Amino acid sequence: MTFILDGKKVAQKLKDNLKIEIENLKLKFNCVPGLAVVQVGNVAASSVYVKAKTKAAKEVGINVIDHHLEETTNQSELINLISKLNSNKDVDGILVQLPLPDTINEEAVLNSILPEKDADGFHPLNVGKLSISPKNDENLMIPCTPYGCLLLLRELNINLAGKNAVVIGRSNIVGKPMAQLLLKESCTVTTVHSKTENIESICRNADILVAAIGKPEFVNKDWVKDGAIIIDVGINRIKVSETKSKLVGDVLFSDVEQKVSAISPVPGGVGPMTIACLLRNTTTACKLKYNN
Ligand code: NAP
Repeated sequence: MTFILDGKKVAQKLKDNLKIEIENLKLKFNCVPGLAVVQVGNVAASSVYVKAKTKAAKEVGINVIDHHLEETTNQSELINLISKLNSNKDVDGILVQLPLPDTINEEAVLNSILPEKDADGFHPLNVGKLSISPKNDENLMIPCTPYGCLLLLRELNINLAGKNAVVIGRSNIVGKPMAQLLLKESCTVTTVHSKTENIESICRNADILVAAIGKPEFVNKDWVKDGAIIIDVGINRIKVSETKSKLVGDVLFSDVEQKVSAISPVPGGVGPMTIACLLRNTTTACKLKYNN
């Protein structure tokens, strides 16, 4: 039978553990982690994500400091705000919701966040640490989506070492850090992308297939091996009628479900894990501040 990797359930377990850790921080140091959430403009999807992240943070006891800036905010104004948040001792994590308006250089903004407050794990120093650190991931600020994928895989309680893992996609926020994390688990990792030749046959060799492409239901049963484990990172909204739409992943769930041993659904798979890992990074940053 196919095992459905229930991201809501696993994320709740992670959040319950974080609640306990935050209670302990309160008792020991009289402090709770603080997360600054910065949004520029009013992109509808960004507002939905910010709302979900803020709600989840408050639920576990994280103090959220909200900065919703005008669309017209310029780069130096944004970097000035980040610099203030960098020196604010009540702020442990800074999240800048992407995408930023075209007039602002995203890289410059993300690089201006202190690495130790980098709740998204995108700062070059944290990217480097992920690549060179030993196997233990406890004290690292790790990009939330791929870390969430790894925690889902760990739920299966299988030995990941030696497994043939294929990651479809090489973005800085998902594909590349996912490959690093799987390598740290001693998987044999292949990253494929839009220029890869024979992509289907490479994917068909995967024991673990992570799809982070951004193309609705792109991966079908011809791409997957019998018994493979599938992590579907994609979030794509497709129209189902004149008035209705729905969310689907990068994998054609109904086509592959019977062929694989485990699969994460969309919605309810990687999405909730991403949010839970943001809270984990913020709490980790606070714990590290106290060397706890
Ligand atoms: P991205 O930056 O657009 O990267 C997409 C990757 O897919 C690129 O590396 C691209 O290759 C590759 N690709 C595109 N078309 C391909 C094809 N035909 N064959 C093979 N590879 C192809 O996207 P992303 O930010 O990584 O996000 C990927 C998906 O995950 C999106 O649906 C996004 O919404 C979703 N996502 C979900 C979460 C979550 O919390 N669940 C978080 C982040 C993202 P090239 O590099 O060669 O162009």
